[in-house]
Amino acid sequence: MKTEVIIVAGGKGKRMNSVIPKQFLVLGGKPILMRTIECFYHYDSSIHIILVLPQNQLDYWANLCADYKFEIPHEVVVGGAERFFSVKNGLRHIWGNSLVAVHDGVRPFVSTDTLARCFAAAEKQGTAVPYGDITESLRKIDGQSSRTVNRNLYKSIQTPQVFQSELLLKAYEQEFLPAFTDDASVVEAAGGAITLVPGNPENIKITSFFDLLVGEALLKSK
Ligand code: C5P
Repeated sequence: MKTEVIIVAGGKGKRMNSVIPKQFLVLGGKPILMRTIECFYHYDSSIHIILVLPQNQLDYWANLCADYKFEIPHEVVVGGAERFFSVKNGLRHIWGNSLVAVHDGVRPFVSTDTLARCFAAAEKQGTAVPYGDITESLRKIDGQSSRTVNRNLYKSIQTPQVFQSELLLKAYEQEFLPAFTDDASVVEAAGGAITLVPGNPENIKITSFFDLLVGEALLKSK
């Protein structure tokens, strides 16, 4: 099946306290977002890449592409007020009859193996969501107190989350709910069954200065 990816980078990046939005910060000499796009292009050079950015960052991105001579073909789409609306805007540009991945722009360390596992599982089962194991102990907050929960019953969820296009388009016809933190939650609310596949531990979401330091270390270890 044809492959497509919607890379969402439409957020304002409030957590990093940085003037430059986090997806544009330079990691090992190159903006994070370029590294993220490269992961998909290196996996499949015929993949249709849709990049979702806030309206006020379009010129900045165009200038960055010129400065870094970044030539991987991609379509740029304007984002929305919530991640949900950014994905929805991206979906208006898909070819259809395809497998559509939705990926966070700030996850530049997704491995080729994770991508292969996700696309293969989605082709077979309709959905594929990569996960990592929880290594810390977990406690559930209950009012003023808290209690231990069995961490083996939980997984941490990564992107790309991959879906057969018809399923994803249908799910995104729903009204927005604040509980929609990822695409799996949207598809599940529309009645879809979610297939979990192992992700890769380095597939971190860069949201803090600490994550940037980890990212630099990961690049050095490659
Ligand atoms: O805010 P959060 O960390 O959940 O964002 C996850 C991803 O969704 C980020 O890549 C962010 O840029 C993107 N996003 C978006 N449009 C929004 C909010 C977040 O594309 N309105």
